[in-house]
Amino acid sequence: MPYCAARHQGSRAKRADLTRPSHNNSCMYRTKAQAKSVQRRTIRATTLFVVFVCLSLLAVDVWLAWRAREQQLRQAMVSNTNLAAAVAQQMDGMVSEVGHLLDSIAFELEMGRMDPQVLTHLQPILKNHADSNQHVHGLFVYDAQGAWLISSQGSAPTGASNADREYFIHHRSDPSLATRVGKPIVSRSTGVWVIPVSRRLNDPAGHFVGVLLATIDLAHVRELLAGYQIGEHGAVNVAQANTAILVRRPFTVESLGKEMTASVMKQQVLSQPSGNFEIISPVDGVERVASFQRMPNHPLVVTVALSKHEMLSEWRETTWIQTLWILLLCAITALVGSLVVKAVRQRAKVELDLGQTRDELTKANERLAQLASYDGLTGLANRRAFDETLERDFAESCRSGQPLSLVMIDVDHFKQYNDLHGHPQGDWCLQQVARAIESAARRPLDFVARYGGEEMVMVLPNTDAAGALIVAEMARSTVQAMQILHSTQPPRDVSISLGVASRTFDNALPNMQALVQRADEALYQAKAAGRNRVMVHEKEKLFPELVST
Ligand code: GH3
Ligand code: MG
Ligand code: MG
Repeated sequence: MPYCAARHQGSRAKRADLTRPSHNNSCMYRTKAQAKSVQRRTIRATTLFVVFVCLSLLAVDVWLAWRAREQQLRQAMVSNTNLAAAVAQQMDGMVSEVGHLLDSIAFELEMGRMDPQVLTHLQPILKNHADSNQHVHGLFVYDAQGAWLISSQGSAPTGASNADREYFIHHRSDPSLATRVGKPIVSRSTGVWVIPVSRRLNDPAGHFVGVLLATIDLAHVRELLAGYQIGEHGAVNVAQANTAILVRRPFTVESLGKEMTASVMKQQVLSQPSGNFEIISPVDGVERVASFQRMPNHPLVVTVALSKHEMLSEWRETTWIQTLWILLLCAITALVGSLVVKAVRQRAKVELDLGQTRDELTKANERLAQLASYDGLTGLANRRAFDETLERDFAESCRSGQPLSLVMIDVDHFKQYNDLHGHPQGDWCLQQVARAIESAARRPLDFVARYGGEEMVMVLPNTDAAGALIVAEMARSTVQAMQILHSTQPPRDVSISLGVASRTFDNALPNMQALVQRADEALYQAKAAGRNRVMVHEKEKLFPELVST
């Protein structure tokens, strides 16, 4: 049923439903609040998820990078150790070879007791050895005073003495016949840097008779060291066991004979046969990972140090690529997250807009229904609502057998009232009359409507003609009591005439038009009888004293 019947007090229950507007709105607000709360929760969950995924990815990246770095350093340390062992092996072999040569020459000299004939005989042999042995730069024999006796280079410089050389001083005072490797020196015969490998010469009684010296060209050793892959910033040292440097790659003259300065290195090198350590080089400031290896047969130590930066170059490259991928994944996750948040926001907005539109539509519909059912001037139900109500109530009366009464009301001489007071005043008057009629219809199912012009109607279900007469009389007397001045000539207040008709079980009117017809006829009778009165249709069976005059 589209209409929401009369708005007047005491009307149909249906009207109450439609006059409860706040119910729908409160529902809407609750939905809006819920939608916002769901939106907030979804956005928070999405944001937390994105942050969690990104942080996890970054944590995994850091962990993987750290592990890869450790592994890379471990591997580099292993190859460093192997390299140091290989260099030590090669250097040891070289010194041993020279040492064996010295031993065999020393044997000849000591057997011949440094006899000039033996010396003359030995000179070409020395030359031959020096030429044929790739490691040997020169071979020299000095007497007990350091004077040159013979050398692989032939004639000795006149008056030349090597008594001031460190190795000579050492052998003169040290009875050991072991081969000794000394600090690099500049050769007095050739002017090149050489490493002296020397041996003491004794007479049969064990007295010092001179020194046998082999020199190894430093350039040759540098060439050997150059064959190893140690990167651009790597370093290789061959040092005496007391850490004095014999040769170093990269080569610097200043470093020759100097002691290794780093104490951490010294401590380890002096105490262990091999090992590893990290060091920032005091020479060039490069951070290196170093491995050292003592030579098995000589008091020499080889140190291979590779630049940590170079060692980790491959790791850095891999880590960069890995990190870029992870960052890309983070960016994609964040992008997807932001799209989800945006979609959630948009959806919530659309939902809210839809809700708002729906509410506005509902309100507009209610307003339309009101406009369709009410009269704008008097606020009573309009003709359309009256027709629907009467049709339904008439049908209900037919079904239940209960009486149904209709009261037709007309303002008396209203045209004249308009003429005297003007139409706006006429409108006001109609509103006052409408309120008075409304106040007379007190039952919940009583219905008052504007029929048209200055005519109004009351539909009174479950009310017979006698009851309707009472209600109609109440309406009439209420209007009368308001004392709205109609005219002074003759003096008169606004009044109404009313016609009552009823559908009862007895008369069984066939349709609602017949009922309207009867009420209208009764109204005409009231007009004809002098107005300001209620007339019940002549065919209604009433007690005569009930008829109003
Ligand atoms: P009667 O007593 O015989 O009913 O005389 P009457 O003048 O009331 O009857 P009539 O039908 O001749 O005039 C009705 C008047 O009601 C005509 C019209 O000007 C006036 N009227 C109808 N509707 C309205 C309205 O909405 N406002 C105003 N101010 N006047 C209205
Ligand atoms: Mg009229
Ligand atoms: Mg009238």
